[in-house]
Amino acid sequence: MSVMPDDDIVLEGIGLKKHFGGGGLLSKPTIVRAVDGVSLAIRRGETFAIVGESGCGKSTLGRLLLRLIEATEGDVRYEGRSIVKLDKGELRKLRRELQIIFQDPFASLNPRMNVGDIIAEPIWLHNLASGRAKRERVADLMRTVGLLPTHADRYPHEFSGGQRQRIGIARALAGDPKLIVGDEPVSALDVSIQAQIINLLEDLKDRFGLTLAIVAHDLAVIRHMSDRVAVMYLGEIVELSETDALFDNPLHPYTQALLAAIPSPSPTNRQPMALLQGDVPSPAAPPPGCRFHTRCPHARALCKEQHPVLEAAPDGRQVACHFWREIQGAGAGSISAPPPSAALAKRLALYRTWRERQDKPVATSP
Ligand code: SF4
Repeated sequence: MSVMPDDDIVLEGIGLKKHFGGGGLLSKPTIVRAVDGVSLAIRRGETFAIVGESGCGKSTLGRLLLRLIEATEGDVRYEGRSIVKLDKGELRKLRRELQIIFQDPFASLNPRMNVGDIIAEPIWLHNLASGRAKRERVADLMRTVGLLPTHADRYPHEFSGGQRQRIGIARALAGDPKLIVGDEPVSALDVSIQAQIINLLEDLKDRFGLTLAIVAHDLAVIRHMSDRVAVMYLGEIVELSETDALFDNPLHPYTQALLAAIPSPSPTNRQPMALLQGDVPSPAAPPPGCRFHTRCPHARALCKEQHPVLEAAPDGRQVACHFWREIQGAGAGSISAPPPSAALAKRLALYRTWRERQDKPVATSP
């Protein structure tokens, strides 16, 4: 059964679970519930974001959707067809259409291969071109992502971080994909380079009619890029919404707390940042009832006992909270927190500057 009434769904996860086993020899075996019953549907041509704190399961979910790792339970459908039981040959064909860009561009590129060969690998693997046609295709791809084709014989270590991410993007594009998952595609880059890569991804999406699924923890990136957002907490989706609606009026207390941690872009309207209190509980021992109840300022007795399921809000959003109707609009202000670390504050300040530049109209002469 489709999780959304939409004819134009390209990729769908249904009841996805990924549990990792650990310990056992000298210690009690543990099961880490990295992803624990996630259903979502990505529409053709949209940018769909999966957001949450570190360890919430968002990267694992991205890999499950591409079947880069096997699900413990659940189904993944690409264009209506289940892909979880495809054999190796069928899966290889599918890889051409479903690609991934990794967080660390250096680790994801083979240091022993030159850039031309790295980009050409999918072309060779899927038998798309050979000889001169292949070389021309590689040169085209390098130009498309802003690299010089004359650098095709260089090795990854000879490029900067941003250039290496461009190589990763060119490789992802080489097989003419329909959907690309970006797993924190800019978080390892300098802020100024992040903006360039974000713009590049948006241009490529329009130019090639791609669907993007962006896994990220950075809400500034999410707001800038995405059409819809799934917010994850401890392996579950707690809110799924159009991006504007989510940022204008978050329904779930966790989303409210995440957004409250974003500083105001206006220097005249700076408010103290509110960050979540406490640590994320271990996914090996998630709290009973609502998994957010140990950190939620609105938690009541019911929250400790009964697990809230995603329910539809009137505007088409989905939210997993027993009391979202009462909490709506009241949440963020009640969350107090210590000030951010110096490193975080610096990074957010850099983002503020970048966002202000993005929003600034083109200057005219006085
Ligand atoms: Fe908070 Fe309860 Fe809602 Fe969970 S169900 S988010 S604990 S109010």
